[in-house]
Amino acid sequence: MIEIPDIAIPDDLLPHDGRFGCGPSKVRPDAVEMLSGSAGHFLGTSHRQAAVQFKVGELRNGLAELFSLPDGYEVLLGNGGTTAFWDAATLCLIEERSQHLTFGEFSTKFATAAAEAPFLADPDVRSADPGGAPVAEAVEGIDAYCLTHNETSTGVAVTPQRPDGSGDALVLVDATSAAGGLRVDVGECDAYYFAPQKCFASDGGLWIAACSPAAIERIGRLTASERWVPAFLDLQIALDNSRKDQTYNTPSLATLFLAVEQVNWVLEHGGLEFAAGRCDASAAAVYGWADGHAHARPFVTDPDLRSHVVATIDFDETVDAAILAAILRDNGILDVEPYRKLGRNQLRVALFPAIDPEDVAALTRCVDHVLERVL
Ligand SMILES: *Cc1c(COP(=O)(O)O)cnc(C)c1O
Repeated sequence: MIEIPDIAIPDDLLPHDGRFGCGPSKVRPDAVEMLSGSAGHFLGTSHRQAAVQFKVGELRNGLAELFSLPDGYEVLLGNGGTTAFWDAATLCLIEERSQHLTFGEFSTKFATAAAEAPFLADPDVRSADPGGAPVAEAVEGIDAYCLTHNETSTGVAVTPQRPDGSGDALVLVDATSAAGGLRVDVGECDAYYFAPQKCFASDGGLWIAACSPAAIERIGRLTASERWVPAFLDLQIALDNSRKDQTYNTPSLATLFLAVEQVNWVLEHGGLEFAAGRCDASAAAVYGWADGHAHARPFVTDPDLRSHVVATIDFDETVDAAILAAILRDNGILDVEPYRKLGRNQLRVALFPAIDPEDVAALTRCVDHVLERVL
């Protein structure tokens, strides 16, 4: 066992809220209070009755407003989180062959799901090393281009765009850690999908997808085809239920409630621009600090790729980031450990809209306080 130095960070340096994890991420205390206040007539009630259906409707409408969804786009939802959606998309959105941009753990998982599907051709996988991002390129025969808005494992964000010359192929964008925190033109995507435990400051277990008319048409066609689709992963069933403000099977009511609270909070303060602005302020605080630091630097070298929702900060060999993270944890600053499989001497900090930019700045001062004592 490594000895963790006993360093108490003074209270006046500490952030007000110590949750900086990338998911589940900080849930706003106000939202938890609202949940507690409405628990008696909401939690533990039927998801087939008006109170819960109203909540699902509020979520779908709120997201349509937040993303200024183009005409004909619909918000679908179902259980199982983004990981379940990858399997659903493999079955119900990829017709024959997909292209995948892989630049970290999450983007690679969807590519693997498509590669393992016996009814699909081998996908066209374009990879970049962690810290970079590959570029999509239109290829004959590709019917789905699969991108990741923000690669949470590395802290790289890209702008979702239809590849030039991609014709009527679909563009499927994993926006799990980006949606609600990064600006986006959803018209560039046919499915902009996510789960609410990141920028939506809720809990996991749900997937949500804003789908274009072309995606809805594809879903209808593939689910009516010879291809066997398990009901749980059938996006036509999910669509039919979503249109009735329901889910195919029982959802977590607290997850729905907290997601609605976050959407409403963002909308009340000015919408996606407000949320993205907070993320920009947090990003300026953490990257500005790291850029000028003697022992730290942003892991992502290209400033244009540096995510404003997930910051990854490398340390030089004089600092043991694992010990640093453990000392911070002892002081109530939680979940700044790097993505485990990335294996770098690094801290990873969520900059999601619910996280106060002032708290991100406070975190950097806490790191300096610790480094002054361990170096
Ligand atoms: C967290 C995350 C996922 C996984 O989401 P689950 O809901 O846990 O399945 C997928 N993609 C990205 C980009 C993520 O950040």
